[in-house]
Amino acid sequence: MLKDKDVEIYELIKKEELRQKDTIELIASENVVSEEVMEAMGSVLTNKYAEGVPGNRYYGGCEYVDDIENLARDRVKKLFGAEHANVQPHSGASANLAAYFAILNPGDTVLAMALPDGGHLTHGSSVNISGKYFNFIHYPLGEDQRIDYEKLHQMAIEYKPKLIVAGASAYSRIIDFKRISEVAKEVGAYFMVDMAHIAGLVATGLHPSPVPYADIVTSTTHKTLRGPRGGIILCKSELSKKIDKAVFPGTQGGPLEHVIAGKAVCFGEALKPEFKAYCEQIIKNAKTFENYFNEHGIKMVTNGTDNHLLLLDLTEYGKTGKYMEDELSKLNIVVNKNTIPNEKLSPNLASGIRIGTPAITTRGFKEEDVLVVAEIITEVIKNDNYDYDDLSYKVRKLTEKYN
Ligand SMILES: *Cc1c(COP(=O)(O)O)cnc(C)c1O
Repeated sequence: MLKDKDVEIYELIKKEELRQKDTIELIASENVVSEEVMEAMGSVLTNKYAEGVPGNRYYGGCEYVDDIENLARDRVKKLFGAEHANVQPHSGASANLAAYFAILNPGDTVLAMALPDGGHLTHGSSVNISGKYFNFIHYPLGEDQRIDYEKLHQMAIEYKPKLIVAGASAYSRIIDFKRISEVAKEVGAYFMVDMAHIAGLVATGLHPSPVPYADIVTSTTHKTLRGPRGGIILCKSELSKKIDKAVFPGTQGGPLEHVIAGKAVCFGEALKPEFKAYCEQIIKNAKTFENYFNEHGIKMVTNGTDNHLLLLDLTEYGKTGKYMEDELSKLNIVVNKNTIPNEKLSPNLASGIRIGTPAITTRGFKEEDVLVVAEIITEVIKNDNYDYDDLSYKVRKLTEKYN
């Protein structure tokens, strides 16, 4: 046992466990997995090499991991109505890299959303391999801070991309996948959707699914989907060979079968009716934040949310995202600073914070609890001399309620 044999690591894990219990976790990309998902991840499956795909491996002894990976693939195909699935990507970034490798050559043009507008590093940021190896062009947001589909259409005609990417990390509105797919068809581009953040909402029909419209859909499994840290790629049958080859041997070696087992457990959980109720509560909780902030004059990007997250715009109050992240963290509320559209500050300071409800909803938070959290955040935004003891007492009462 770690407790006896490696007390340093044991104690740090215990501290992290306590930190998670004592804090209100509002990072929109995080969640809390079930004991069963953790049991699968902490199993002997980590000992097994299984390069290849089920039924066609480069190692012997794969009979059981084949069954596990087949179950994971079948469940995720059922969950999203997909024709083909690869469950091996180690993360969302790895899934995206493999998807690009499957259909692009270095230098090819890709149209996507920019990082400062809510996109992801792997959608062509200059510091990421995607931005260095491919010619990414970014479509803008409109006056209303939502995707400007008209402009996207014009840019697709002008730049003739080989691929159009939709999906985001900090975008609080429904994305019209059908409309973007029509643009892609018109200009002869592939269409890929990265649904990392919203996968749970898509699985339960609470956000329109990209699967009928996109050639390739990538995702993480650890955000709203509430599974182990990892990635997946879904695609049409005609791309299945290209995708599988791009994952292995293209961009990865041996798959993490212990994590794939955890993914299978997560997909099984997501197929149950309880998961839909959970996702509905995620959105109810986000809407409760929205209503409270609206009533109390706190500005939000796009004025609100359709999904699991909100972006607060702090400019009117002269506060930076960094200030809010630091102050809230002293109160055991965890958020991340975030750039807002037309950001004037550096990303290290930023003018916004991103607030997400997936993790607190798993903990059990309902509307009445969210109102307390919204009140605390509003007080810290508006009042430099907020009553630390009072607010921190309120946080403690909430975290204790759900321990
Ligand atoms: C989180 C995220 C990723 C990357 O996931 P990692 O597992 O951290 O690599 C990719 N795309 C989007 C849109 C994301 O939000």
